[in-house]
Amino acid sequence: MSKSININLLEENLLTWYDRNQRALPWRAVPGYSPNPYHVWLSEIMLQQTTVATVKDYFSRFVTRWPVIEDLAKATLDEVFHNWQGLGYYSRARNLHKCAQTLVRDYKGLLPHEAPVLQALPGIGPYTAAAIAAIAYDQPMVPVDGNVVRVFSRLFALETPLPALKNEVQILAKEMVPSHRSGDFAQGLMDLGATVCRPRNPLCEICPLQKECKGHHKGVAAQLPRPAVKSIKPRRYGIAFWVENDEGEILLEKRPDKGLLAGLIGLPTTIWQDTPWNLESDALFVSAPKGVDTWAHLPGMVRHTFTHFHLELRIAKGHSNIPKKGLWSSFDNLKSHAFPTVMKKVIRAVMETSLSYPPK
Ligand code: SF4
Repeated sequence: MSKSININLLEENLLTWYDRNQRALPWRAVPGYSPNPYHVWLSEIMLQQTTVATVKDYFSRFVTRWPVIEDLAKATLDEVFHNWQGLGYYSRARNLHKCAQTLVRDYKGLLPHEAPVLQALPGIGPYTAAAIAAIAYDQPMVPVDGNVVRVFSRLFALETPLPALKNEVQILAKEMVPSHRSGDFAQGLMDLGATVCRPRNPLCEICPLQKECKGHHKGVAAQLPRPAVKSIKPRRYGIAFWVENDEGEILLEKRPDKGLLAGLIGLPTTIWQDTPWNLESDALFVSAPKGVDTWAHLPGMVRHTFTHFHLELRIAKGHSNIPKKGLWSSFDNLKSHAFPTVMKKVIRAVMETSLSYPPK
């Protein structure tokens, strides 16, 4: 299919445009300098599910605190989580840390050049491997992210809806590998998608690829890519337990090492089930912390949306009268923990209710 587009012309036009219009990003090498592979890797991991504007501060914080991969490998996981707070999807932080340790142990603290080797490392999938290989080392490949899918769907007027469209673009991307400057070509596509071939209102009149763009010539560019048929996210229900002791400390727990929010600190909760909990039911308190005689259910609920489901959490509050066991935190010290967003919402909800801390 790509044969009907002049790839050489497209490559030349894109690179010329990129030389004049590239975005200045903190992880990007300035013209004339080689990219720092650590910066490329870190930014690509942070940019998954997060915007460039949000990532800038986090990126700067990470490279200031851990200037090289060896420093990141020496950090504790809690420190990494703490500095990741607010970026969400904590498995990315966990894998980042694990990957840094693997790189130090097996690769002298350097990122490998080849995409298949990169892809075998923790937290590096096919897209990130291709992005690192192309941007950091100019390996001949085109990493396909959301921007590239959109640009290609328009360039080739692809009518296949998402997510199947992505496979079609992957195949085209293999045919579109540039003859040189692979890193700049990849970043050029990303920048074009972010600033010109925007999701809404593409700026075709100033686009360097307009001459070759089938979507533009057919007048369908703004309607592409065709969206996926929306699936409805299921809703789950749980109870979070706020337990205080005589010293005014709050009971916390570390979540299991596998599964959602793995290894993170939070308040104890019931399992998150498909139906709302009956607040009078004994079953509810089977999973409640022991040593609390009376539970008060706080009004309202905390809502949070994860990738695959919506969560509604009610909050039960109680006073523990058994000797201290487990993980307790003074209220003032709560902020030293790297809570996931959903737990921050619960803590805020407790503070905002009439039953809130300090305990009587
Ligand atoms: S001409 Fe328009 S639709 Fe085509 S690539 Fe450029 S901005 Fe996107």
